[in-house]
Amino acid sequence: MIIDDKAFQEIRTQLERYIHDKKLRNSEVRYLVLDAVRTFPKHFTVDDLQEKLDKGKEKISLSTLYNTLLVLLDAGILLRHSLGPKAEYELRKKGETHLHLVCNRCGSVREVRILPSVLRPLFDAAKTRLEPDYLTLYMYGLCSRCKREQKKLERKQNTKSNES
Ligand SMILES: [Zn+2]
Ligand SMILES: [Zn+2]
Repeated sequence: MIIDDKAFQEIRTQLERYIHDKKLRNSEVRYLVLDAVRTFPKHFTVDDLQEKLDKGKEKISLSTLYNTLLVLLDAGILLRHSLGPKAEYELRKKGETHLHLVCNRCGSVREVRILPSVLRPLFDAAKTRLEPDYLTLYMYGLCSRCKREQKKLERKQNTKSNES
């Protein structure tokens, strides 16, 4: 899923406001990075992003890229997931719309769309003094591929024990 033009314009405005409020230098690089971020339908790592940006005209160093990601995180534009060995990112606006199904065995992540009406009761149920901003959900288990593998393994072990 790619975010539509209207939603993306809102994100750009959010970044403009953040840069203004924090009195940061208004460098074009942040917008270049944001444009690249938008093209990922799923989560991406810093490596994915760097690879994509390397194809562009302007060369962006890794340290600038990390700094820009920090800005985007702090501005509430990006979400950072720590699911695998490498941190993954996605636009927060997108991340709020789905449930993450994470396989405990292979680490694969699948996204399932979730309606805001499903999330709202969770905000209420939390009964916290924290003013809720957003919510990301993870569900952990065994993915279908790993489940098949496991069944295969079990069958193999069964035939072995029947033979002996
Ligand atoms: Zn996601
Ligand atoms: Zn799996």
